[in-house]
Amino acid sequence: MQPPTARPQSIQPTVDEELGPVKLNTYDLGVQLEDTTASIFQKMGYSVEKRQRVQTKSGATAEIDILLVRGIRRRAVECKNYDQSRSVGIQDLRVFKDKLGDTGIASGIFVTNTYFSEDSEKLANSTGIELWDGDKHREKFYAYAIGRIKNPSLVQDPILPLTLDFSSASSLSLRNNQSVRLFSSVLLYHPYFLIKHRLQAIRKDPTGKSHTITDSGTYFVDALDGEIINRERGVVENIAGLFKKKEERMESREDKMVSEDLERIVPISKPVLSSSDYQVSVAEPEVTEEDAARIVKAHVAEKNRQDVRYNAKVKGEIETRSFRVLPRLSEVSIRGTKLVYVPKWDLEYESGQASFSRRFLASSGRTLEDGLAKCQKCTLLKKETVAVCEVCGTPLCEKHAYQEGGWMCEDHISDKLREETKGTGFLSKFKLGRG
Ligand SMILES: [Zn+2]
Ligand SMILES: [Zn+2]
Repeated sequence: MQPPTARPQSIQPTVDEELGPVKLNTYDLGVQLEDTTASIFQKMGYSVEKRQRVQTKSGATAEIDILLVRGIRRRAVECKNYDQSRSVGIQDLRVFKDKLGDTGIASGIFVTNTYFSEDSEKLANSTGIELWDGDKHREKFYAYAIGRIKNPSLVQDPILPLTLDFSSASSLSLRNNQSVRLFSSVLLYHPYFLIKHRLQAIRKDPTGKSHTITDSGTYFVDALDGEIINRERGVVENIAGLFKKKEERMESREDKMVSEDLERIVPISKPVLSSSDYQVSVAEPEVTEEDAARIVKAHVAEKNRQDVRYNAKVKGEIETRSFRVLPRLSEVSIRGTKLVYVPKWDLEYESGQASFSRRFLASSGRTLEDGLAKCQKCTLLKKETVAVCEVCGTPLCEKHAYQEGGWMCEDHISDKLREETKGTGFLSKFKLGRG
């Protein structure tokens, strides 16, 4: 595989020009979305065919961006390459869902370089379509060593300790664990900069009185894309353009969880070990420490724009007025920077016709994503999975799991059992009673 194209991207400073533009050496996801996605799945162990025409039930053909094949499993991948400000909407998901239905491909993955709207996420959730937004794609890009990675033995920077080990991360607690197979496991070390800052801006109001604005704290900057992941500490004003996208990203659940781990868990200096059980990928930072510091400075200055009130005497009366303070980048000082690696498990399982992703923060052990956790036959409130169907692989809850030899979904039990259980309204109890 070729290394990602490092295309310098310039971002205009928002407050003043004194530090010049912030340059990000980030990979050009836009152009290569389909290619990189295909490479990721190839590394995962799929055979991939791009731009594949597949027969539909009506006899016509439909084009699949990437068709994945692994044993008896076929999966369709849809790639949508959008402008940074545009999200994937429900209409895009509907079209893909219909395509899956028409072609009879049971499993679908929708990949974008941006993000998904809330209703498109809901639709995906109810139909079992796996979603990869820009952040997830980027993680996979490095996890599967397509992005720049470094030799684990050369890691000098501190890491969050690995508390959730491989056997705990990969273990399942289903009634038929043997029907689910782990086929790809990666421990990804994702780099983040911890940047301590302090702002002090002193301004005189028109009456000559001094006002001091101070702010200090630590920001975490994703070293793969230059985004601040813990921005939520009160953004004063939302300036159009640059900060728009970042405000949206602020809501990312994964960023929030990583930030919490970086706040609570003390990094250690310990060698990163390789293992024969899983692949270890250590991502090289794509953003320099200097640029991460500039990004923080710009954000702090921006965030602390404010109107300061003062009392003026007008015609003998005291009147409250305000004046605007725009902190300068030079008034933000950087009190320290540190690169810390956060380990994340990225596990892929397969069962029957189905495949599942499970991702965990390896330090706190918290779940980022678990495609196996919830029953796919439940419609609204999805219950916890107790077994998978041994024919199709669908995760099933207590109510939707039937035992007939092995564990089955309703579609795969015999006509006889279906007939027997028909009309009882309590299928699972009936079935469980018979053991
Ligand atoms: Zn269910
Ligand atoms: Zn089934």
